[in-house]
Amino acid sequence: MDFDTDVLVLGAGPVGTTLGNELVRHGIKPRIVDRAPSIREVSKAMILHVRTQEVLDKVGVASRLVSEAQPLTEVVVHAYGKHIGSWDLDDIDSDYKHPLIIGQNKTQHALLDLLNAGGVDVQWNTEAMSFEMTPDGVTTTLKVTDPVTHSTREDIVRSRYICGCEGSNSLVRRSLNFTFEGDRYTGEQFIQADCRIRWALPKGRSYLFLTAVGYMMVIEFPNDVVRIFISLPDTPNAAGAKEAAAQLGAVESTTEEPTLEDIRHHLTELSGFACELSDPIWLARYRTSHRYANHFSQGRAFIAGDAGHVHVPIGGQGMNTGIQDAFNLGWKLAGVAKGELKPSVLESYHAERHPVAESLIKGTNLAYTGILHPSEARQHAARLFGPFLIRNERVQDFMRNTLEELKIFYPSSPLNLDLGGATGPRPGERVLDTTMVRASDKSTVTINRLTRSPGWTLLIFGGRDDMALDEAFALSADVTGRFGKLMTPYVIVADKIAPESAGGSDHILLDTLHLAHERYGVTTPVFYLLRPDTYIGARGPLSARAGLLAHLETIFAEAGSN
Ligand SMILES: Cc1cc2nc3c(=O)[nH]c(=O)nc-3n(C[C@H](O)[C@H](O)[C@H](O)COP(=O)(O)OP(=O)(O)OC[C@H]3O[C@@H](n4cnc5c(N)ncnc54)[C@H](O)[C@@H]3O)c2cc1C
Repeated sequence: MDFDTDVLVLGAGPVGTTLGNELVRHGIKPRIVDRAPSIREVSKAMILHVRTQEVLDKVGVASRLVSEAQPLTEVVVHAYGKHIGSWDLDDIDSDYKHPLIIGQNKTQHALLDLLNAGGVDVQWNTEAMSFEMTPDGVTTTLKVTDPVTHSTREDIVRSRYICGCEGSNSLVRRSLNFTFEGDRYTGEQFIQADCRIRWALPKGRSYLFLTAVGYMMVIEFPNDVVRIFISLPDTPNAAGAKEAAAQLGAVESTTEEPTLEDIRHHLTELSGFACELSDPIWLARYRTSHRYANHFSQGRAFIAGDAGHVHVPIGGQGMNTGIQDAFNLGWKLAGVAKGELKPSVLESYHAERHPVAESLIKGTNLAYTGILHPSEARQHAARLFGPFLIRNERVQDFMRNTLEELKIFYPSSPLNLDLGGATGPRPGERVLDTTMVRASDKSTVTINRLTRSPGWTLLIFGGRDDMALDEAFALSADVTGRFGKLMTPYVIVADKIAPESAGGSDHILLDTLHLAHERYGVTTPVFYLLRPDTYIGARGPLSARAGLLAHLETIFAEAGSN
């Protein structure tokens, strides 16, 4: 089959554009189509969690988003009429210290601009109608609508792979007969407004109110705007508003748009504080569901983002998880399409991301149903123990790590190899950052910076006493010889001076303060393999070098091809 493109991406939402950028960064120019005429200018997903910022740093848009966003450093919690304390969301162990508040449309514009700069234009007004997949490729039928005359024409695209990032009504998911198991939350609705507020509570922080009838968040956006987000029992006679539902991309039809006066009324009732609301930018009312697909891939087809999972927007995890799906898939797809990685690597996408979606759906469902309609006893317990719990450092850590998605790991990934040798992060866990000094020019480097370029990284520790530096250099030379540009090895030397034999290589890092040794739990000579998406791929003692090389042969298609 002759291909028009290696990868056809359906949907230019935050997930499709993240995937597009990752493909470009890893050397593949995809074709991206979207049935909408342009980005929808609504703020929908407005929290960028810390892990997503780390991911978007690699993608290349984090600094722009940081400059446009409002930091979210503290959430003041009121439970059942009592102020019980604050969640501290600041000073997180990452280059990105806190979540950011920024409208989804702004995030999408940043991703789209980067995509355009990378030479890929989204083909708007273009809807995927159907596709056929064979073992050799995918043929997709598109309906292209002229934005001026509204006339339509058919276009056929042949691609090696197809990625469904087309939201909760995914064509790819439905065509492959994947199930979308779950349920809707009957009897519950969300109403929300982006507007200005005047009330007695101080600015500079966000608020959560738990009450017997529902819960509410008031979150600060940039430019003096707040998002007011209220969960309430549904109104039985609510009429459907299909247009609004389509705008939201929500799976369940929304009901009539609330007025600013409705929002003010509920806000005052739930918080107990009088307020004035003005300048509404966006008002919405909707119901939601929790569902996830039974498969995230089949043959040459993949789904990511809302196409694979939708859930109640508690904790603002939906778009964040979708962006991380795309980040997981991008380097694998590009590597296989370029013939650098074995096609079996693609199987790890479902193996790694499906359990993440499953636990997200279960976790958000548990949290949501847990705070809805609490008994008198639960309310009393929250008022009594809440202030102690919220001050507890372990509770705060748990909340931070869970919300900020810093503990999303792939413990059962088929790409993992754990041969022990160190007590630091295990294969499948997130790469930890630390600072070292480059032997060649004595400049300071961090692992985060070293892993910014696409490709694999091998950290080779000679041990605290540099007892195995010869073996370390031999492994470094070996992987360079076999895997060339696909992998960058660094030998980490614990002493102040790199040995003469090392020359002035940029690939020798001095860890005289033993910071890297400590973070990675290293005393004896070991290797740590870091994947392109900054998860640990493998670890083991240097004596197990043959095991590492054999493992790499199962991942890389043509050793030494680049
Ligand atoms: C009110 C609201 C608040 C939310 N708040 C948060 C939050 O705070 N944090 C968070 O993380 N998430 C939040 N979410 C969820 C978040 O908006 C979604 O998870 C996110 O938009 C999913 O991105 P996506 O790219 O997968 O899908 P979408 O954003 O739905 O994009 C899919 C794209 O595919 C296009 N498309 C559809 N079908 C086709 C087709 N056949 N052919 C071509 N193109 C097609 C559509 O036009 C669309 O542009 C919220 C959602 C709502 C509704």
